[in-house]
Amino acid sequence: MPKIRNFEKSIEIMERSRKVFPGGVNSPVRSFRSVGGSPIVFSHGMGKNLFDVDGNRYVDFCSSWGPLILGYSHPSLISAMQEQLQKAVTFGAPSDLEVRLAEKVQNWIPGIEMMRFVSSGTEATMSAVRAARAVTKRNKFVKFEGCYHGHADQFLVKAGSGLATLGNTSSAGVPSGTTQDTLTAIYNSEESIHEIFCQYGNDIAAVIIEPVAANMGLVLPKPGYLEFLRKVTKENGTVLIFDEVMTGFRLSKGGAASYFQVQPDLWTFGKIIGGGIPAAAYGGKKEIMQMISPLGDAYQAGTLSGNPLAMVAGYATLSEIENQNAFEKLESLGKYLDSLVQKELTPFIEKSKVCFVRIESFFCFFFGTNRAPNNFDEVSKTDMKLFNKVYHEWIQNGIYLGPSGYEVGFLSACIEYEDLDLMVSIVKNVLNTED
Ligand code: PMP
Repeated sequence: MPKIRNFEKSIEIMERSRKVFPGGVNSPVRSFRSVGGSPIVFSHGMGKNLFDVDGNRYVDFCSSWGPLILGYSHPSLISAMQEQLQKAVTFGAPSDLEVRLAEKVQNWIPGIEMMRFVSSGTEATMSAVRAARAVTKRNKFVKFEGCYHGHADQFLVKAGSGLATLGNTSSAGVPSGTTQDTLTAIYNSEESIHEIFCQYGNDIAAVIIEPVAANMGLVLPKPGYLEFLRKVTKENGTVLIFDEVMTGFRLSKGGAASYFQVQPDLWTFGKIIGGGIPAAAYGGKKEIMQMISPLGDAYQAGTLSGNPLAMVAGYATLSEIENQNAFEKLESLGKYLDSLVQKELTPFIEKSKVCFVRIESFFCFFFGTNRAPNNFDEVSKTDMKLFNKVYHEWIQNGIYLGPSGYEVGFLSACIEYEDLDLMVSIVKNVLNTED
């Protein structure tokens, strides 16, 4: 075990930061509220490594929450962006760069007949639901407890304890009027969907789901669940939206739709599509996307939408994924991680101390259980205190993940096997001391 790391400068910057930003941060999870302690303030990243302002090095499994599938500062991204910086960072007018990226997206995901770029995942999901409401002329939509679709009012709803509840807001500042058409279902539950459709079938514009839920730890869809949703939505004239902000360009080349061979009507993307520069998109069936202005009457706009810098970063990322055959590398890292968990953690799995879930380059350790959770309720019963303990050992030993047990770990293509050895050995050490 190394010496205790020094975080003096991080702490000093956070003290200043708390005076200017709520909780010292520009997005809540960054505050370390979940894991305790003071956030690490970073200075730079290179490949698989992140460096903080005190000079500590970390192997990065956070990937800036997903976009950095190639790691930090990939040379082909840097040169593409440098070239664009000389030309223009924004036009607020059409450019070939946005068409080129959209065509590449269509090439990877042929179901995207028409799309639109926006600047954040929040805008993408908000706009996709608007398009669905416009085409169906219905108001209600279904989301799943524990799935995150950004912070637009209508999504900030928590489910009640029943199978379905009409929207109770889970955030202050969200009037109940804006969530009254939000219906909440239980992830992986057919019964919960049946109940909702029995009651509101003719009024439901959309069902939106993270096809792999990666905002409540990692929860995989039960075999056949996405097919079930496809069937029910089709029968009810409801638009099925896959929120692929996380899974798009990561779960496979064609994202979750291709991975599970289930075709939604609309998709939302973010993260990798902008290569780490703010960009997101929504798209899918032409008949739905034609509802969007100026073709249709559903208004949606953005000053920096299709931003040139983001468009070249996204294009360079997708191209480099192809050049490197990144999915193959990620798969072999993932398989190695599975085998390590088997080798090192089996006694603890047998004693229900830990459960490891992985799909492609997403992974998650749940503690205090050996059963992979199927929904939010099961996730919230896992041992988050133990996660926090492991988390701080990871930090002390130079492993960085998103600071919460409700987040996932991401593999990037520049991670090495020895980094996985270190990450798993720390889990093992903590579990040994707990024994
Ligand atoms: N959808 C999903 C599945 C997400 O994971 C996120 C963000 N993590 C969003 C939407 C919102 O994206 P953004 O933070 O870019 O608004």
